[in-house]
Amino acid sequence: MKLVTFVNGGQAALGRVEGAEIIPLPPQFGSMMDLIIRWPQLREALSSVTAPPIPLASVRLLPPLPRPGKILAIGLNYADHVRETGAEMPSRQIWFCKQPTAANGPHDPIVLPKVAREVDYEAEMVVVIGHGGRAIAREDARAAVFGYCAGNDVSARDWQMATSQWMLGKSFDTHAPFGPWITTADEVPDPHSLGVRCFVNGDKRQDSNTSNLVFNVWDQIAHVSQVMTLEPGDLIFTGTPGGVGMGMQPPVYLKDGDLVRVEVDRLGAIEAFCRNEVQRPERIKGVLTV
Ligand code: MN
Repeated sequence: MKLVTFVNGGQAALGRVEGAEIIPLPPQFGSMMDLIIRWPQLREALSSVTAPPIPLASVRLLPPLPRPGKILAIGLNYADHVRETGAEMPSRQIWFCKQPTAANGPHDPIVLPKVAREVDYEAEMVVVIGHGGRAIAREDARAAVFGYCAGNDVSARDWQMATSQWMLGKSFDTHAPFGPWITTADEVPDPHSLGVRCFVNGDKRQDSNTSNLVFNVWDQIAHVSQVMTLEPGDLIFTGTPGGVGMGMQPPVYLKDGDLVRVEVDRLGAIEAFCRNEVQRPERIKGVLTV
C-alpha cells in the first residue's frame, strides 16, 4: 500500500495512493502515526476502503508523517560518497540526528536559510519504523519496518563542518523533505536493490543503488537499537551516494530557484524548489495545525 498525508478541505487527511489518484480514508483512521501504531488491526479495513478518488496532482502533499518521531541518519554510507568527501572508510556506523521540526512536504520549498551559505542535497532512501523495539537482532530487523520513502538529507555544509557534531547543519527547518508517500514494507521485498537518483534542474547529480550501502538497513537497525528504542514513526535516513555538491570541483551549492528531485525506485519521487529565506517559513503554521 502507498499511504499519503495530504491537505483536503484545509485539513490534514490520509489516503491510499492508486496510480495517479488518492482514495481518501475516513477520519476515524486518525493520523499516519495512529495508523502505523495500529497497523496490524487496521491494515485489512484500510485496504478495502472505497471513496471517490481525488487526483494526486490536485492536492498539496504533506510530509507523510507531518511530525515524525526521531529522525536518525547515518553518514558516509556509500563508498563513492566516502571517497568524494576525502574521509576514511568508516569501520563503525556514524550516526547523527535531524530534528523532527525539519520535516518537509515532498513538494514544499526547501528554504535556504539567511545564516547558511552552503546548502547541499543528499538523495536517500528513508526507512519508516513500524513496531520498532530495542536491541533488535539483524534477522528481526525487517519486521520492525513499516515502510519506505524517498528523502533528501538537506545539509548546510558550513554549519555541518563548523563543529565536530553535524546536528545543527542537518537540522534547519524544511531540511528533511521526504515522501511522496510511505510505501509499506510488503511492497518492497528487497530494500537493497533500489536505484537512488538526484537531479538538480534536470541535471543528474547522483545515480546509485541501495545495493551499494556500506551498512545495510538491517545492520543499521540492529546497531542503533542497541542504544535506543526505535518507536513507530521514527525515520532513518540511510545514507547518500556520491555526487553531492560539496564533492564537485569547485563545490556547487543550492541557490534560489533550483529544482531538486530525488527519486528512489518503487518509492516515487520528491521534487521541490529552493527558496531564499525571506521570513519565518509559512509551512510551520501548517504543521502545527496537523
Ligand atoms: Mn545523509
